[in-house]
Amino acid sequence: MRYVSTRNRSDTATLSDAILRGIAPNGGLYVPAHLPEVYLSDFGGAEGLVPVGRVLLEPFFAGDRLEAALPDLCDDALRYPAPLKQVTEGTSVLELFHGPTAAFKDYGARFLAGALSRLITPGGSGITVLVATSGDTGGAVAAACHDVPGLRVVVLYPRGRISARQEKQLTTWGGRVTAVAVHGDFDDCQRLAKEAFADDALAAEVGLTSANSINVGRLLPQMVYYADASLHYLREEGVAPGFIVPSGNLGNAVACLWAQRCGAPIREVVLATNANATIPEFLATGRWRPRPSVPTLASAMDVGDPSNVTRLVALYGGWPQLRRRLRALAVDDAEIERQIRRGPERWGEIWDPHTATAVAVRERMENPDWILVATAHAAKFESVVEPLIGGPVPVPPALAEVIARDGTAEEIEPLLSELRPILRRGAPA
Ligand SMILES: *Cc1c(COP(=O)(O)O)cnc(C)c1O
Repeated sequence: MRYVSTRNRSDTATLSDAILRGIAPNGGLYVPAHLPEVYLSDFGGAEGLVPVGRVLLEPFFAGDRLEAALPDLCDDALRYPAPLKQVTEGTSVLELFHGPTAAFKDYGARFLAGALSRLITPGGSGITVLVATSGDTGGAVAAACHDVPGLRVVVLYPRGRISARQEKQLTTWGGRVTAVAVHGDFDDCQRLAKEAFADDALAAEVGLTSANSINVGRLLPQMVYYADASLHYLREEGVAPGFIVPSGNLGNAVACLWAQRCGAPIREVVLATNANATIPEFLATGRWRPRPSVPTLASAMDVGDPSNVTRLVALYGGWPQLRRRLRALAVDDAEIERQIRRGPERWGEIWDPHTATAVAVRERMENPDWILVATAHAAKFESVVEPLIGGPVPVPPALAEVIARDGTAEEIEPLLSELRPILRRGAPA
């Protein structure tokens, strides 16, 4: 399988190169040159993420130097359970928050970490994964890489501007993970990371790599839970389900649509956004108007210029085709609060603010057979959720373990001269 840039189909790469580069040289995003058709019979009744992943992803790895590693990558990254739970007649929830940082990003980050560690040049100095985070991504990447040989992680986050639990998820991994509290805001962190990547000598010396969510190595494994859940639903209920996907940068949505195109029994896909409504407006009007993001309660979805839209357009060919196959609906903060508040009584569930957008969209649908994608556990966002439900949110064991540990971080001014020595320091073997 070759991978092509969304900006220029003749700019191709192997899977390994697409993963190592992250973004194509011309600024486009890598997508599979074609989406292989996988037939229901190919799964032979396989159930669960690991067996389904091994079958579904095989053609995407064919001919690549990672091909032989695929079964191990699946065993390792797809071992967190993704239960499909019926909550009412006609509505089920796909829980993607049973990994170490209690959000769906754990699957993609762990898969990418495993892939990168197998692409390290023997005898080289290893790979340094540099990530700037406003909260969620950094935790998933740190958790995913902290025990992977040959990798080290440097996470930049804005000091005092992330939640206490998010900070624990960055600062408690030890050895291979260096958490850096930057005196500044998220934009300063991002600018600093960009400056480091732009310093060619530094980047080469420390083997700098990005684990950004636009990396195709994060999207491929995310297809697997959609395929597995839809196969399961079809087997149990006799019909193909629709998915409602809480969306920000649209990575999770693209993975769902790729799984559908490959033949997973998915009736339709509806995106739920927060008040950052760039995508719903684009689908409605055909005008692409990116804008600065506005802060909402579903903060991991605060994206005003979702970069993966180029992959959506590449998949369908253009807006007229796209609008016939995909719907997107925006949900404001008042509606998010309302859905969290009534969650326990109406559904018997405590929703996190991101999942609550999917719940709100479900309430607008008349037909049955919907799967709501639960992207995070409510205990991650307890400061939003607890006042609304008037009580504590039970903390899942993996998260409780992280919260109980002591964290350490280095503090720097947002200057490359302060970051450089930290990057140079090297990782423990
Ligand atoms: C990252 C994230 C999202 C948005 O996912 P995209 O792939 O960027 O659309 C939704 N919910 C949670 C909890 C997240 O961390």
